[in-house]
Amino acid sequence: MKELKCEVLVVGAGPAGGMAAKSCAEKGIDTILIEKKAEIGAPLRCAEGVSKKMFAEIGIKPEPEWIRADMKGAVIVSPDGTSFQLDETKAGAEVGYVLERHLFDKGIAKLAVKAGAKLMMRTWMTGPIMKDGKIVGAHCVSMGEPLDIYCDCIVGADGVESQVGRWCGIDTNLKMNDIEPCIQYRMAGIDCSMEFCEFRLGLEVAPGGYLWIFPKGDGVANVASGSWVPSARTASARSSSSTSSSPRTPGSSTPRSSRSTEGSIPPAPAWRKATPPTMSCSSETPRGSSTRSREAASAMPASPGCTPERSSLSARRKEITPRPP
Ligand SMILES: Cc1cc2nc3c(=O)[nH]c(=O)nc-3n(C[C@H](O)[C@H](O)[C@H](O)COP(=O)(O)OP(=O)(O)OC[C@H]3O[C@@H](n4cnc5c(N)ncnc54)[C@H](O)[C@@H]3O)c2cc1C
Repeated sequence: MKELKCEVLVVGAGPAGGMAAKSCAEKGIDTILIEKKAEIGAPLRCAEGVSKKMFAEIGIKPEPEWIRADMKGAVIVSPDGTSFQLDETKAGAEVGYVLERHLFDKGIAKLAVKAGAKLMMRTWMTGPIMKDGKIVGAHCVSMGEPLDIYCDCIVGADGVESQVGRWCGIDTNLKMNDIEPCIQYRMAGIDCSMEFCEFRLGLEVAPGGYLWIFPKGDGVANVASGSWVPSARTASARSSSSTSSSPRTPGSSTPRSSRSTEGSIPPAPAWRKATPPTMSCSSETPRGSSTRSREAASAMPASPGCTPERSSLSARRKEITPRPP
């Protein structure tokens, strides 16, 4: 069995993991960032909208290649068709730039590597390594081979469907009420404003939620319907599938959809209970995951997420009651 050692192991090279690895590495912490997939940022599960001030807040200058479209603001369309415009500063966290999200994610990971983190692709955490009731590392499968990584701290940045938090005994289960299921299509040949993100409300398009159109220029946009009212879910699914077969995009005669994305978004109130670095849960079982790792997961006290301060990584561990996965 191959073994590696580091101070911080970050699981998942999405934006959260990339930023966590970058922050740790910049502080001189010996950091490994692992990503189970062969490519960072793919497949896309995002409408790619972000506010511009987010970049200032996280202290990153966006690379031009990350940005596909620059938005002036948002248009809100009510069920009776009445609409109004908001300028970009008032339009919320998803209006500012429409990104090339796959390039953005890769760019953040690149910054982490530049800061000194070691990035390992096709490396999947399959379960924790336990010693004296504490997590001391991660069982992984790397390029198809078993690998144990010993570390002082594990950052579970494995996304909304992640398992690391649950392995660590943190209750990150989201209630159905707290999840906004949505389905999104990348549409081409549509005729809508390429300068404003559009949000449409109403039972017909997205009961309990909204339909969004995030333009990417040249008649291309991410078009989606999402809902978070449980009683409206069936209707939402119906509405989503009709969106897929005959998208009602303004002025368009022959819109085409090139790809679809399904997913769930936990709205902010539910998400607040998982503080960054995020520890969350998933039903996903890794290929090659051993029975051992699943058994270990169900019997485990945990070390929750640590802040990246070199001096006290171990000291910040605290024990919490394990929960069954
Ligand atoms: C349809 C849809 C539209 C959205 N639109 C927007 C939007 O417009 N704007 C916005 O800000 N947000 C949007 N979101 C939400 C946004 O995509 C997520 O909040 C964001 O991706 C979370 O980033 P993350 O780094 O926490 O997780 P992720 O981006 O999910 O990254 C987690 C990474 O961990 C890896 N991983 C998982 N398990 C393991 C393991 N065991 N070992 C190793 N690696 C592992 C995964 O492969 C993945 O690369 C949208 C989400 C959906 C579903």
